[in-house]
Amino acid sequence: MSTSFTEPAKKHLGQNFLHDRSVIDKIVQAIDPKPGDAVVEIGPGQGALTFPLLKRHGVITAIEFDRDLHAPLQAAAREHGALRLIEGDVLGVDFSALTAELAPAEGKIRLAGNLPYNLSSPILFHALDHAAAIRDMHFMLQKEVVERMAAGPGSKVYGRLSVMLQAYCTVTPLFVVPPGAFRPAPKVDSAVVRLVPMPTESIHVADRRVFANVVRAAFGQRRKTLRNALNGVADVAAIEAAGLRADARAEQIEVAGFVRLANLLADA
Ligand code: SAM
Repeated sequence: MSTSFTEPAKKHLGQNFLHDRSVIDKIVQAIDPKPGDAVVEIGPGQGALTFPLLKRHGVITAIEFDRDLHAPLQAAAREHGALRLIEGDVLGVDFSALTAELAPAEGKIRLAGNLPYNLSSPILFHALDHAAAIRDMHFMLQKEVVERMAAGPGSKVYGRLSVMLQAYCTVTPLFVVPPGAFRPAPKVDSAVVRLVPMPTESIHVADRRVFANVVRAAFGQRRKTLRNALNGVADVAAIEAAGLRADARAEQIEVAGFVRLANLLADA
């Protein structure tokens, strides 16, 4: 097995490797790992973020799917620190179990990564499923995705991703990264975002599944009024009991409105 990074980047795995030193430094500064933090990187690739993080923090856990990268990563990591590599698909990793193993005292890990853009939504939703086990997340994503995550009611890009994330996390866009910072260069701008899951006691969603269904239905047909979009999910009486107008559209409803409606349905 090869121990150097000789393979070309694989498009189907979303491989756009960071090479801009100043961007890498800004990400490491944003994460700012402190002694004892359990930092878990998703998609270390050729180590662009992993090795600076290792140098600064000494120990990093990383999850990489591409088996051609496993041996070269392990070999190159040795001079920087202790890399614990999980060889496999991040979507199959139980972050709650990983947290119990890596951070039994605090009960929280810190996630980071320049994510494969084709999988960014599934990875975000997977992380949300384990939000109670995560202290924070620093992710590089397509700029357009970060804009959707942070958008509020009335914005054209306010949608399911905005509501689902903001119900559980504070979302802070940090900085934009141009295509030239990567090899190969993606076609679009990227951005780094910080997500901090709210403490369990400040999350008011009673039933996550009901909430997800309401939000999916409401934005599934975003041009329709709530009355029509939520047909079969919530009737007009429930919509109005939640303090919402049945002739409003999903893009006008704030996160708390969706939470009220979902909680009412969960209670019923
Ligand atoms: N962190 C590196 C960097 O910044 O140069 C690589 C980032 S690249 C955008 C995304 C990385 O995620 C690649 O190394 C890719 O192989 C890996 N990856 C893709 N799908 C994955 C999955 N399902 N689970 C874990 N890693 C995955």
